[in-house]
Amino acid sequence: MTAQILDGKALAATIQQELAVQTAEFQRSRGIVPCLAAVLVGDDPASEVYVRNKQLACGRVGIDSQLHRLPANTSTDELLSLVARLNEANGKNASDAKNSPVHGILVQTPLPPQVDTSRVLSAVSPQKDVDAFHPENVGLLVQGRPRFLPCTPHGIQQLLRRNGISVAGRHAVVVGRSDIVGKPMALLLMQRGEGGDATVTVCHSRTPNLPEITRTADILIVAIGRARFVTADMVKPGAVVIDVGMNRVDGKLFGDVDFPGVREVAAYITPVPGGVGPLTVAMLLHNTLLAAREQ
Ligand code: NAP
Repeated sequence: MTAQILDGKALAATIQQELAVQTAEFQRSRGIVPCLAAVLVGDDPASEVYVRNKQLACGRVGIDSQLHRLPANTSTDELLSLVARLNEANGKNASDAKNSPVHGILVQTPLPPQVDTSRVLSAVSPQKDVDAFHPENVGLLVQGRPRFLPCTPHGIQQLLRRNGISVAGRHAVVVGRSDIVGKPMALLLMQRGEGGDATVTVCHSRTPNLPEITRTADILIVAIGRARFVTADMVKPGAVVIDVGMNRVDGKLFGDVDFPGVREVAAYITPVPGGVGPLTVAMLLHNTLLAAREQ
């Protein structure tokens, strides 16, 4: 069997076209252009690329974007004061950041080691928290009544749904338990109703019998940050394999899945690049428009 490729890049383009129409309609009816403010601290090259891609994507769908750059030696307090300013920026008074409204705030991680990341992310207004990292938004997600869906898991959910792949009643194995991908992914899969109702197992670095468990997965989602770690012998024939990993090795980008080998076993597989990554950006734009609507 050679797996069918799940083309995240093409789907992200479709979603962005839909968002462009919705954004134009929102602007026509409400006279407001949604705005995403990105905060970039230091000069990490990967973060620079991510933020630039997000800004370019904003431009494509008609969402305004701001970039707030701070030096690598920025303190937690300095960052907190910028976040407070962006929280208050509603375009209604002259002291607002650039005197224009901000509907979504994105603090690009990782932050430098002297910064208390959790304090900064928790300081973002929950209404502007388009990454869905704020404890209030995480809590709402856990309770099954989310305000914003976390971007990467939401992108994966869209990819499955729009390719006609149902997860209901199937065994989904998530490898990785990060707050950004693994944990919220598991939550979405186990949610009641559309896009959910899966039976979910979460694995991590302390799981002793990983291949034994991954081989039982109908849907296998891998987010560990280890290049080509999941090999064909770890995958059940006919499984759906979603590779979240982005690992740079000798200047080349690899996923967490050994694509050439696993492709011969799985029924569906995402490529890296061109799989989950572009969808993460598309769902960030989705959340920014949603934030503008709700505000
Ligand atoms: P993370 O915070 O580093 O977490 C990695 C997780 O993988 C941890 O839970 C860790 O277990 C687990 N793990 C590590 N080695 C393992 C192993 N050998 N066997 C089983 N589990 C293992 O990573 P992340 O932020 O979730 O990111 C994961 C990957 O996805 C990275 O390559 C990242 O660049 C990529 N990513 C891509 C996107 C996208 O849009 N495509 C978005 C976010 C992240 P412990 O908890 O036990 O340490």
